[in-house]
Amino acid sequence: MPRYEYRCRTCGDTFELSRPMAESSAPAACPAGHDDTVKLLSTVAVAGTAAAPAPRAGGGGGGGGCCGGGCCG
Ligand SMILES: [Zn+2]
Repeated sequence: MPRYEYRCRTCGDTFELSRPMAESSAPAACPAGHDDTVKLLSTVAVAGTAAAPAPRAGGGGGGGGCCGGGCCG
């Protein structure tokens, strides 16, 4: 999940949030609870490598019942 940096205009603090890209422009409250924040430059720090998720085969294969009945031996 990308991290975005925000700056609170009330207390001047900067903080980071990890949130989906779809919510990058959504209002973010600072740790002190102020709502008057602005998003800074997108410091999109993708952690690690983009590991492809292991595809999980859904069904297919297996057959079922054959090896239980002795036809495989
Ligand atoms: Zn604040």
